[in-house]
Amino acid sequence: MNIAAADSRLTSALLDLGHHIGGMHAAGAVAGRHGHVFNPATGTVRARVAYASAGETAAAIAAAKAAAPAWAATPPLKRARVMFRFKELIEQHHDELARLITLEHGKVLSDAHGEVTRGLEVVEFACGIPQLLKGEFSENVGAGIDSWSLRQPLGVCAGITPFNFPAMVPLWMFPVAIACGNSFVLKPSEKDPSCPLRLAELLAEAGLPAGVFNVVNGDREAVDTLLTHPDVAAVTFVGSTPIAEYIHRTAAQHGKRVQALGGAKNHMVVMPDADTDLAANALLGAAYGSAGERCMAISVAVTVGGIADPLIASLQDKLATLRVGSGLEPGVEMGPLVTREHRDKVRGYIDLGVAEGARLVVDGREHALSNAGRGFFLGPSLFDGVGRDMRIYREEIFGPVLAIVRAGSLAEALELVNAHEFGNGTSIFTNDGRAAREFASGVAAGMVGINIPIPVPMAFHSFGGWKRSLFGDTHVHGPEGVRFYTRLKTVTARWPTSGAGTAEFVMPTMK
Ligand code: NAD
Repeated sequence: MNIAAADSRLTSALLDLGHHIGGMHAAGAVAGRHGHVFNPATGTVRARVAYASAGETAAAIAAAKAAAPAWAATPPLKRARVMFRFKELIEQHHDELARLITLEHGKVLSDAHGEVTRGLEVVEFACGIPQLLKGEFSENVGAGIDSWSLRQPLGVCAGITPFNFPAMVPLWMFPVAIACGNSFVLKPSEKDPSCPLRLAELLAEAGLPAGVFNVVNGDREAVDTLLTHPDVAAVTFVGSTPIAEYIHRTAAQHGKRVQALGGAKNHMVVMPDADTDLAANALLGAAYGSAGERCMAISVAVTVGGIADPLIASLQDKLATLRVGSGLEPGVEMGPLVTREHRDKVRGYIDLGVAEGARLVVDGREHALSNAGRGFFLGPSLFDGVGRDMRIYREEIFGPVLAIVRAGSLAEALELVNAHEFGNGTSIFTNDGRAAREFASGVAAGMVGINIPIPVPMAFHSFGGWKRSLFGDTHVHGPEGVRFYTRLKTVTARWPTSGAGTAEFVMPTMK
């Protein structure tokens, strides 16, 4: 029985979520170590999720290894056709996937739909894999010698993903990896595993051979097995910075290709000439959308010159009417946080900001739902007068908390952004082209928006940050994704007319 069917049949009973290994979906297979999956809007347990042992993870790697040679030998056009069918199935099941996200993550349904669409776009990109894998050819690199390059798959690739985008972030990885001819083992977040499991079912329905895509649920035991197993060739990780650093170090020590995307503290610079209302609306969506649980959320607004006071007044007005509630309710703009522990951690940062001397303009702790005792809610918070030495400025909060930092000039704002340890995304709001150009050129971040608050690159570009927001050399999806999931081979060939030749003991050069 698939996840959706099981979901609709179970009303009061708990769902049991297992793994997807070798084409077999082990729903209802929670025998050993497991965790609980919550509905954050009600605060109730919705499912039990199995935590894979090292042995179960090794079984998934073995299934992927067994499937890899035949899949690598499958023509790219046929691999693309599976992606086309997968794309159609995601479109058909868009509502169901979005609902699964909202039920376990808490984000509002329209936002969950947007997440599915951004993931779907990577599948659309992967549909073009025959074109993307085309190599280069040079005729006559020497007399009668031709040379060409090709990109070949790596073998078994692994992905480890965070809770905040249970569809989009896995979809950043495996469609590209699989289309390139690799097999894949995904270890999604244990907090919202239903959507990745459903994607595995849809991929099987699309005609992907068993074993090419596997999902193991779990915690550090499964992750460590993926990082150290000799049959895993490459690891892509997305999550918090301390874990990203650990993943990068451990996987590299075990000889794997690795890209590990970490946390963020994204700044939006608002110049004095910016349209105040436009900037306030942009900040509202970027800071409080998905309850601030986005790696590209804006968590710091750097106001330059005199725009701070009118901007804060506008934000205050708009926050007074922001609708917080269950993500399934129409019209709600911000849902709960993912777990009670995370909600309490974010709440602790609001206490800390007050203790550090920042001015709390809007206090999310006072929102009626924050204290209703049902669900993991916290209202939106806004701090003014935040200093660069405060922990609420330096650390990633990952919740609906926006900090205003005041700067005297663009140079000062730029220095502030560049001095921060994270460098994921950043943005400038201005009507001055020269200021925007100076900012885009000089800022130390991987993704830059000009009058765009959340500049997430499209699937045919690549996504990634700088500094402690990314460990490794390549960004994900787009052309960088194709390079990461393939290795280059260059062939040099001659077809001599006679078999006779003379031994050459010097480095071959063109005469
Ligand atoms: P997390 O680091 O806690 O977990 C990410 C993954 O790592 C999960 O699958 C989890 O099970 C696993 N994990 C957790 N602790 C581990 C350990 N000790 N050893 C091995 N594996 C472990 O992150 P999260 O809370 O799920 O997600 C939020 C974080 O992800 C935020 O910091 C956010 O900025 C970041 N994020 C970054 C990007 C990006 O593109 N840079 C995108 C999305 C989220």
